[in-house]
Amino acid sequence: MRGVVLHAPGDIRVEDRPDPTIEAPTDAVIRLAATCVCGSDLWPYRGIEDVNGPAPMGHEYVGVVEEVGSDVRKVKPGQFVVGSFFASDNTCEICRAGYQSRCVHAELVGALGTQAQYARIPLADGTLVATPDLPADDLVPSLLAASDVLGTGWFAAVAADVRPGTTVAVVGDGAVGLLGVLAAQQLGAERIIAMSRHEPRQQLAREFGATDIVTERGDEGVAKIKDLTNGLGAHSVIEAVGTQESMMQAIRATRPGGHVGYVGVSHDVSLPGDELFFSGVHLHGGPAPVRRFLPELIDLICTRQIDPGKVFDLTLPLEQAAEGYRAMDERRAIKTLLRP
Ligand SMILES: [Zn+2]
Repeated sequence: MRGVVLHAPGDIRVEDRPDPTIEAPTDAVIRLAATCVCGSDLWPYRGIEDVNGPAPMGHEYVGVVEEVGSDVRKVKPGQFVVGSFFASDNTCEICRAGYQSRCVHAELVGALGTQAQYARIPLADGTLVATPDLPADDLVPSLLAASDVLGTGWFAAVAADVRPGTTVAVVGDGAVGLLGVLAAQQLGAERIIAMSRHEPRQQLAREFGATDIVTERGDEGVAKIKDLTNGLGAHSVIEAVGTQESMMQAIRATRPGGHVGYVGVSHDVSLPGDELFFSGVHLHGGPAPVRRFLPELIDLICTRQIDPGKVFDLTLPLEQAAEGYRAMDERRAIKTLLRP
């Protein structure tokens, strides 16, 4: 099969890779209908994360089940399925509490590389959720979004305790931040402030439910959020970047007693204890347990109540993956969908 491999920072190649096979009786092999490039794929692409030799890339996926192992009971060949970037058994205590991304048997799907024609998915019964029918082609991008960016934005909104009638601020205008806006709108937020300085992203944020746009960053951005909230700060703040600046911006934009939902993969963030102590905010986040939300998200998508697939503003054949990475790296594209 063909698959995407990162050889060194900036060096993305599409190569022949071995066809995946059933290795454990709990595995499934799927044929990808679509896959995509994640903001987190840009960390190694930019050399901010180490690249140790050629690495298969990709952890977002939807597709049709080709084959299942002998212990797989729920997932059947021919089904269209959506899964998350952590495989999980969905039966252990941590999974049952809704934290499948920290399952005691969690396996990182990214290590297997779903930017490819086929992928082996471990723990298929716990990981994969089938759609009610084979979805219409125009639903595929939205279902793919559910695999990570929508599920992550949704978790961020839940972790930030978004409720009906509240004010939410969103730090980060990548796909996750934009879909955090959509999630906040679905969860009933009254006011949603998107922090973005990029016009096309502001536009999409408004389509997803943002009521206000703040272009300032850092302390100026915080001051603007305070201005818009009677000096108090937002009830809920979604942090979808993962840098020191974005994290402090999120904490400082939250009112005492409010909640920060942080889902930007943390890079060299260290929090000042004294400031955190006196802020009085709740902090919750981490790798999103996307599996928890998949049944609900698939339903919202298949009944056409939400259209998160709008975050894909570039679609390319898998063979042109390198251009897909470049476009995102240069912020010419919000998110690249790859068609195997
Ligand atoms: Zn588990």
